[in-house]
Amino acid sequence: MNRVLIVTGASRGIGAATARLAAMAGYHVGVNYRNDEAAAREVVAQIERTGGQALAVRGDVSDEGNVAHLFELVGATYGPVSALVNNAGMLERQARVDELDAARLRRVLGTNVIGSFLCAGEAVRRMSTRHGGSGGVIVNVSSRAAVLGSPGEYVDYAASKGAIDTLTVGLAREVAGEGIRVNSVRPGIIDTSIHASGGEPGRVARVAPSVPLGRGGTPEEVARAIVWLLSDEASYVTGTILDVSGGR
Ligand code: NAD
Repeated sequence: MNRVLIVTGASRGIGAATARLAAMAGYHVGVNYRNDEAAAREVVAQIERTGGQALAVRGDVSDEGNVAHLFELVGATYGPVSALVNNAGMLERQARVDELDAARLRRVLGTNVIGSFLCAGEAVRRMSTRHGGSGGVIVNVSSRAAVLGSPGEYVDYAASKGAIDTLTVGLAREVAGEGIRVNSVRPGIIDTSIHASGGEPGRVARVAPSVPLGRGGTPEEVARAIVWLLSDEASYVTGTILDVSGGR
């Protein structure tokens, strides 16, 4: 049977690296993107050049209808979805808690928390042996921010990742008897464009000296941990949060 994977937010950064690496490991990959169709198509083209199969699917993970469409289209193209990487995530400009308004909180929590819940729910409805599925695996992308709190920068983002850690532990136990494993990776400081959204494009260089391994990580280093958690090599691993943070 095909291994069919959806990676959310896969047009760049950690999601794109995960889509490429998983395709090389034999997965048929749904490359979800929100806006940047050209970038998503380029990820698909890169996968096809290495002999893999992938499909770009537009969709905002915080929208129930978009999430259902994503799973339906990937399922109709490649067969039942058996793996999900809840990677889509965002942060906004650095601010203190007393500067945050409800609109921003809805955006950040909408993508990072509600989006991850909606995709996980859709995956479980399709994978769970309780619903006639054949099982599967989910990997959530958390952040070391969940532990550090990101004071003065983006406590909203950090709290959203705390919710992802709790989702991971709770869902893993909820569906352990239904053929589904659930884990998360907790990246430290990784060299992607997310830091520009926080208003500090040079953040990786600034923070790197405080990382015990002395540098920021690459998207590929996180992708390798994700693809391992997806694989049968991790068959006895569920409910685990794996730091990929250079010791940070
Ligand atoms: P990135 O900004 O390069 O990629 C994030 C992707 O998510 C983008 O493609 C974006 O379009 C997509 N996205 C955002 N909101 C979306 C939505 N509502 N629906 C669909 N897609 C959406 O950043 P990245 O660093 O590759 O981030 C990937 C994940 O890793 C995120 O969850 C992020 O929080 C997490 N993370 C990153 C770091 C880091 O230092 N880069 C550290 C810890 C955790």
